[in-house]
Amino acid sequence: MTPFGAQVGHMSGKRDYYDVLGISKDASEDQIKQSFRSLARKYHPDKNPDDPDAESMFKEIQEAYAILSNPEERRKYDVFGHERPGGSPFGSRGFQGVDINFDDLFGQQDRSRGSDLLVRHSVPFQAAMNGLDDDLEIEVLKNCPSCDGSGSNIDGGSRTCPSCEGRGRIDEISMIGPFRQRVRKDCAPCRGSGRLVSDPCSECKGDGRSLQSIQVKFSVTPGIASGNRLRMRGQGEAPNSPNGRPGDLYIEIEVQKHQWFERDGADLLMALPLSFADLTLGTTVEIPHIDSENLRIKVPPSSNPGETITIHGRGLPLNANSSRRGSVTVVLRLQSPKKTTRSLKNKIKEIRAELEESIPQIEDRIREEANSRRSR
Ligand SMILES: [Zn+2]
Ligand SMILES: [Zn+2]
Repeated sequence: MTPFGAQVGHMSGKRDYYDVLGISKDASEDQIKQSFRSLARKYHPDKNPDDPDAESMFKEIQEAYAILSNPEERRKYDVFGHERPGGSPFGSRGFQGVDINFDDLFGQQDRSRGSDLLVRHSVPFQAAMNGLDDDLEIEVLKNCPSCDGSGSNIDGGSRTCPSCEGRGRIDEISMIGPFRQRVRKDCAPCRGSGRLVSDPCSECKGDGRSLQSIQVKFSVTPGIASGNRLRMRGQGEAPNSPNGRPGDLYIEIEVQKHQWFERDGADLLMALPLSFADLTLGTTVEIPHIDSENLRIKVPPSSNPGETITIHGRGLPLNANSSRRGSVTVVLRLQSPKKTTRSLKNKIKEIRAELEESIPQIEDRIREEANSRRSR
């Protein structure tokens, strides 16, 4: 593994999936499911609005469950841990979260609610440092303006369907052998709309909803990461039944890549390619930084490629409510010239012999390197 790769692995500090779910390594499938459900209820974003810690816990729980509830993935995890060959089972972007239905989790049914919507939205890297007030435009089913959502051209032309009481669905109970099975069907008299309409509106054909373009304003807070979702309560689809409430709009944020930083939570990682002379003599490099103050990287004399320099407190904010910031870790790299002129070659040849004398014999060198690598 390259020193760079080793560093990334070490910095990720991912928690053990069993610890996340608070179960032992030999937990049964039922225990896994039970623990997941109770934790997911506790940390579900619906129960903890505007709590980024609960949100990240929720995501962690989901990820652990996604792996441990799948026997094959669980086996791989038991053998390799987080460092499994072939990379993350969730692809190069890592775990992105899955949709877990609130209704499923809490055993509630709310049929008269409009659909939730999910849109993806990309923000510049700098938003993770400073936060950002942003907006986007979406096409969404809202109450039809012509009939004011009633679905009818005339006042009182729309009434709640008595068969389904406005739910639009009816449950049919049937027996399959000894089992009662509940099948949910669209209500026939109202064709699933939950209302009976006379003289239907010509704009929305009686649905009461029409596709409208709306602008949504929202704020992205410092520390935001790709995959984070903002929940805009009531900004999803209008309900298709008269007494319902609108769904929610989720905005999934994608933070664009920085020119040179890789990101690990609030910590940033970069490689700094230097000439042989800079590594040997030491140097100070100043580069523009995300907090608009130059980042000064002091490279000590006798540095080697692969060594790292960590600058604390200059990474990203930990979250919106904290003034603390992560660190910047710089991995030193050697950049040899692609082309050397004859005169440069001659100068390097001149110092080669002298250099050989200033470092140990080749075998001692190899041995020392191995020892220091192993004791790291
Ligand atoms: Zn009905
Ligand atoms: Zn209408």
